[in-house]
Amino acid sequence: MNRIGIDLGGTKIESILLDEKLSVLERKRMPTPKNDYTKILESIVNLVYEIKTEPCKIGVCTPGAISKKTGFIKNSNTQCLIDKPLKEDLEARLGQKISMENDANCFAIAEATMGSAKNFDLVFGVIMGTGVGGGITINGKIHSGRTNIAGEWGHHILHSNGHKCYCGKNGCVETYISGPALEKQWLEITGKSQPLIDIIKNLGNDEKSHLWKSTFLTNFGRSLANVIDILDPDVIVLGGGVSNIQFLYDEGRDSVYENVFSDLIDTPILQNKLGDSAGVFGASLLY
Ligand SMILES: [Zn+2]
Repeated sequence: MNRIGIDLGGTKIESILLDEKLSVLERKRMPTPKNDYTKILESIVNLVYEIKTEPCKIGVCTPGAISKKTGFIKNSNTQCLIDKPLKEDLEARLGQKISMENDANCFAIAEATMGSAKNFDLVFGVIMGTGVGGGITINGKIHSGRTNIAGEWGHHILHSNGHKCYCGKNGCVETYISGPALEKQWLEITGKSQPLIDIIKNLGNDEKSHLWKSTFLTNFGRSLANVIDILDPDVIVLGGGVSNIQFLYDEGRDSVYENVFSDLIDTPILQNKLGDSAGVFGASLLY
């Protein structure tokens, strides 16, 4: 049976039609309507009907988690989706059952099935971008957990009494190694407000650069070592804008290894292969 994946992002909605062998038959995208839930629903339905073949499995990748308690979207940066029964509303309009998962879980299943983590059993997929999230797949299936929060390492506490986080806690990983957090630390150290891409480009051998980088590496190392200590995955794949920083794959990896409680540590830490397409491919693989 063919499959459709929909990636609902903050700026664009993308759709893809794959055949049984996972070859791409069609692909479309459009801008996400701003702050209008009904228009977002209509856009998704239109994108599906433009490429749909019968019968077809449909999966949707959403920004934000789906509450196991209510079935509604929560923690989404596309705010008009919050507390809306997106899955139910789409099923009613499309006349069939669909699958829905957050972007971190879609990233993990896409990389585990057709990306860098192919051929590994237990995969921890990491998103480090505007926020920090993660997803776990076991033998190609998403492990959501009893309460749907498995893999959400971005909000485990790295520094008690640390930075205030929007989630209500203090010292979450996200407040140290997300893109905005790293830019804020650079501003505090150097007085310069620069996007992460420029910070990396201009990173020198001076004391301030060194302080910023070593703090980043320590926080990255400790937070991922905590994951390895608990989950011991076969591979870790990094995604999101921050994952383009190349020193994470040698110095970053070494910092993780230094913090793991084991006499043997060789967990591969790999860059993603699918880039921005992980969401839409992951959505199509949710069955
Ligand atoms: Zn938090």
